[in-house]
Amino acid sequence: MENLKKIEHLGIAVEDLKRSEILFQKLTGSAPYKREAVESEGVITSFFRSGPNKIELLAATSEDSPIAKFLKKKGEGIHHVAFAVDDIEQEMIRLQAEGFRVLNEAPKKGADNKLICFLHPKDTNGVLIELCQDIPE
Ligand code: ZN
Repeated sequence: MENLKKIEHLGIAVEDLKRSEILFQKLTGSAPYKREAVESEGVITSFFRSGPNKIELLAATSEDSPIAKFLKKKGEGIHHVAFAVDDIEQEMIRLQAEGFRVLNEAPKKGADNKLICFLHPKDTNGVLIELCQDIPE
């Protein structure tokens, strides 16, 4: 049985959330289904569905936000690939045993009712990978 069950969403860093929401609404043919700030991360997110897939737009709300730093360094574009897992703590233990570094030692609360953890992109071919587990309602 696979550990990373599916790509849960793609995260895209954008400069101007409002402008990008209009763009993605045209692109996908549907309005964002959720807009949510994650204050601890200095980020505001907006979620779109495309069939079974999800796209998360991320804009910075402060200058020291990781998204602000990403935009400064790389510009707009794909920021992370998020994989769904059943048990995030177990996956963090497994992946660290495999030599991957985690960016947060304990799972943290992310947008869209998820517990999340990021892996160090230097260990994953330069791609920032997010693990996410649904928080039971
Ligand atoms: Zn994400």
